[in-house]
Amino acid sequence: MKTVRKAGNPTAKKGCPYMKKCGGCQYIDIPYEKQLQQKQAEMKKLLGKYGKVEPIIGMEEPKHYRHKVHAVFGYEKGGPVSGIYEEKSHRIVKIDRCMIEHEKADEIILSVRNLLKSFKIRTYDEKTDMGLLKHVVVRVSKMTGQIMVILVLRSPILPSKNNFAKALTKLHPEISTIVINVNEKRTTMVLGKRDIVLYGKGYIEDSLCGVQFRLSPQSFYQVNPVQTEILYAKAMEMARLTGKETVIDAYCGIGTIALVAAGKAAKVVGVELNKEAVRDAKENAKRNRASNAFFVCQDAGKWMVEMAQRGESADVVFMDPPRSGSDEAFLSSVCKLAPSRIVYISCGPDTLARDLEYLTKNGYRVEKIQPVDMFPMTAHCEVVVGLKKTGC
Ligand code: SAH
Repeated sequence: MKTVRKAGNPTAKKGCPYMKKCGGCQYIDIPYEKQLQQKQAEMKKLLGKYGKVEPIIGMEEPKHYRHKVHAVFGYEKGGPVSGIYEEKSHRIVKIDRCMIEHEKADEIILSVRNLLKSFKIRTYDEKTDMGLLKHVVVRVSKMTGQIMVILVLRSPILPSKNNFAKALTKLHPEISTIVINVNEKRTTMVLGKRDIVLYGKGYIEDSLCGVQFRLSPQSFYQVNPVQTEILYAKAMEMARLTGKETVIDAYCGIGTIALVAAGKAAKVVGVELNKEAVRDAKENAKRNRASNAFFVCQDAGKWMVEMAQRGESADVVFMDPPRSGSDEAFLSSVCKLAPSRIVYISCGPDTLARDLEYLTKNGYRVEKIQPVDMFPMTAHCEVVVGLKKTGC
């Protein structure tokens, strides 16, 4: 596989009219090839002491890669606006089309904005805590083309909701489901706890690495499907499964890694905190007839401690924690379980470095470090690391 891919220069000061205010794409005015070099150097500086950092895998077409798009809604003198918060403020930068977001998702968000007036739907105002529509989130499946639209509202009542759904799906017949999410709190969190299905099944289906998945509004799912397949393939390579192993997928989301591994292992167990994601994961195991895959809804650290106390064992542990990284309860129990391999997937290289420090001091050796550019134009970088138990 070609690693550092050549791309033209899709960045462009002229290409993004919002770059001065938006701040979402920290590297947008750097040519893509240079962005990759920069990330490579950053990863080497941060992780180089643990082993050789392989060349970062970039995208061939680093545009419109985000299959999950979020827009915040508000009001300006001229009418409703949607876009993203200006960096370090709560002023909305009005965005119609973004270089890294899926184009269809952006079109749908614009259509929602345009329909608001005729349906007399007011946008939410943070200052007064009045109004209704707070955010719109759109998720697009690359493989099936199915689209989910989530309308985040201050209260559960959407005026003429069925006619609104009819009007939106008439403009975009490719929408598979529309869900109202109720977020009554004054909070920086986008989604509230309650979902009400307005149209369709309430979830969409996608597939990755030949495995089918359903995903619900509250479940985490990687935003860049092209790079996710590459990332998972690298993770599987590092796991070197032979069909005999007991595997743990910690922080498993809807079971993506667990179910890709299930076909190559004796047994897989996924652990995840989010109830809805675990429900999806169990359903996904059924869909893929993975009778050797099991899912537990619990804090990964607590669950690992209990597993270690019961004296259970595992051969391979995949771990893919949120940006804040793992915790000592989890790491110390992993070391007690003593799997022969750990595959650590991280979207937070700083916390990854912290956790590698612990693992390498407690019986593990880094075999491979592979950065994957999941977020072109931004400063973020995903990394997958293969670790081996010393003496194995
Ligand atoms: N491996 C999945 C999800 C990774 S994102 C994928 O590739 O799609 C990290 C996941 O960890 C999220 O689903 C989040 O809900 C979950 N999570 C966060 N804190 C957790 C904890 N303490 N214990 C278990 N899961 C947790």
